[in-house]
Amino acid sequence: MWTRNVLEDPVQAETIPQGERTNEKRSPVTGQVLGRFPIASAAEVQAAVARARQAAPAWKSSSLEGRMRLLMRIKDVLRTHGEEYARRIGEDTGKPHADALMSEMLPVLATLDYYKKNAEKILGRKKQPSSILFPGKASYVEHQAIGVVAVISPWNFPFNLAIIPVLSALISGNTVVLKPSEVTPITGEVVREIFARIGLPVGVVEVVQGDGGTGAALCEANVDKIFFTGSVATGRKVMAAAAKRPIPVELELGGKDAMIVLADANLKRAAKAAVWGGLLNCGQACVSVERILVEAPVHDRFVELLRTEVSNVRVGGPDEDADMGPMIFGRQIETVERHVEDAKKRGAKVLLGGHRLDRPGQFYAPTLLTNVSPGMAIYDDETFGPVLPVVKVADQDEAIRLANDHQYGLNGSVWTRDIKRGLALASRLECGQATVNDLIISVGNPALPFGGVKNSGFGRYHGPEGLLTFTQPKAIMVDRGLLNSEPFWFPFRGKYGPMKDAFDALAEGRMTKLVGAFVKLARVR
Ligand code: NAD
Repeated sequence: MWTRNVLEDPVQAETIPQGERTNEKRSPVTGQVLGRFPIASAAEVQAAVARARQAAPAWKSSSLEGRMRLLMRIKDVLRTHGEEYARRIGEDTGKPHADALMSEMLPVLATLDYYKKNAEKILGRKKQPSSILFPGKASYVEHQAIGVVAVISPWNFPFNLAIIPVLSALISGNTVVLKPSEVTPITGEVVREIFARIGLPVGVVEVVQGDGGTGAALCEANVDKIFFTGSVATGRKVMAAAAKRPIPVELELGGKDAMIVLADANLKRAAKAAVWGGLLNCGQACVSVERILVEAPVHDRFVELLRTEVSNVRVGGPDEDADMGPMIFGRQIETVERHVEDAKKRGAKVLLGGHRLDRPGQFYAPTLLTNVSPGMAIYDDETFGPVLPVVKVADQDEAIRLANDHQYGLNGSVWTRDIKRGLALASRLECGQATVNDLIISVGNPALPFGGVKNSGFGRYHGPEGLLTFTQPKAIMVDRGLLNSEPFWFPFRGKYGPMKDAFDALAEGRMTKLVGAFVKLARVR
C-alpha cells in the first residue's frame, strides 16, 4: 500500500499521450492563431481515468496533513510563476492582467489558506449523539473520499473554475480527471503544469484537453462523481450521462443575477458597483449583474450615474491597461447581438454601446439599455456579455417578485442604507448567494458555500460544503461489547408488551416509563 513516504518523495506526473485531432486556438484580442491543442480521444480519456483509478486507494488512505502539505506547494508555484501565468491566462482570454491576478489566482491562494486551517475540522471524524433508544453506545460520522472525480470546467474563469474544484476534491482524498474548456486550452496547460510542478504521484491529477466529445467521454468513463461548471444545456447532458450508472453530479450553471437598487441606496456606490459587476470579465461571469431593478423615484438619476460610469470604462487587450477585455468565446458575441437586437425591437433604449468595436479581435462595446422588461431575451435568458439592462420597478415588492420570477437563481443583491431592510430582502431572494450593498464578493470568500438554485444548478462548493461535496458520509456506531445480548435482538417472544410500553412512552415523551420498558425488554430471555 502507498504511504506517506510517497507524498514526501513524489513521482513526477507523466506526459499524457493525446489524440490526433487538434483544436485551433485564436487570440480573442488579435484573431491570430496562437497554437493547436490536442483533443483527447475516448480511449485516452479512459486511460487517464484508469491511471486516476489506480492512484485512488493510496491517495485516499494518505493523511490529510500529508495531502495538504503537498498541495500547499501550489502557493510557492504561484509565487514564483504567478505573473507568467497571469500573462498566459491573458493571452488565452484577453482579460486584464490585474483581473487575471484578482479573479483567477487570488481566490486559489485564499482557498488553500482556508482549507489548511479548516480541512481537519471539516473532514475529521465527528462524534454524534446516540439516540435515546441506544444508551451507552458511541456514534460517529466520517467523511470518506468518493474515489475518482471528473471535473469539467468552462472558459470564462478558466483557471479559478478548474483549479478550485480540483483542489477541493484532492484535499477530500479523491483523485481527479480534469477536462478544461477547449476555448481556453492555454490555461488548461497552465493548470496541468502547476500540478506537475508540485510533484503529485502519477494519476492523482490527470488533465485531458479536448472538446465536448472529450467531456462526454469523461462522463461515460469509470468515474465516481462529476463536478460540472458550464451551461444549462450541457449540464442536462452531463446529468443524463451520470444517470446511466448512476453517479452523483454537481451542476454549477448559468445566472441572470438581479441587482435591486432601492430609493434610499448610496446611488454613487451602487452605480460603480453595477458597472463593475456587469462588465467585469466583459460580462462573462455566471455571477454578472444581468438585471438592474431600480425603484422608480431614483431611476432616472441612477441611469445618469450609470451612463457616466460606463463611459469611463476602458476597453482593450491585456497590454492596453484596460478595465474590460474582449469576449473570450467568439460565438458568444452572436448571443449578445441577438439579445440587444431583440431588446431594441421590443422597446428597449440603447443609451451606450450596442455594437461590436471596430478593431480586430472579439470586442463588443460596453452597453447600457433602459426600458427593459420581461419577455425580452435580454431579460429572460443569460446574455453573458457586457450589457447592463435596466428595469424600472414601482417598489421593493415588485423588485423581489421580478428578481424571483425567473428561471435562474445564482446571485442577487439589494442596495439600501437600511441594513435591516437589506438583510430581510436578501433573505427573500431565491438564489444561492445574496449581498447587501455589494456584489459578487461572496464567491471570493472561501468560507462561504457557493452554488445555485433553479436552472443555476445544485450542489455547493467552497467553504465546508466544498470539501464535503467530494465525500460520502459514513455513519459508525460502537458498542463496548460487554453484554451478551441486546433488548432489541431475538427472541421476540414475550417482547410485544414491553415494546408497546416503550413505543407509548416515546410517543408520549415519558422518559421514566421508557427506561422501565427497556429494563423489562432486557429481562426477557
Ligand atoms: P459549456 O456548457 O459550453 O461548456 C462547459 C464545459 O463542458 C466545457 O469544458 C465543454 O467542453 C464541456 N462539454 C461540452 N459538451 C459536453 C458534453 N456533452 N459532456 C460533457 N462535457 C461537455 O459552457 P461554457 O460556454 O464553457 O461556459 C459558460 C457557461 O458556464 C455559462 O452559462 C455560465 O453562466 C456558466 N458558468 C457557471 C458558473 C457557476 O459557478 N455557476 C461559473 C462559470 C460559468
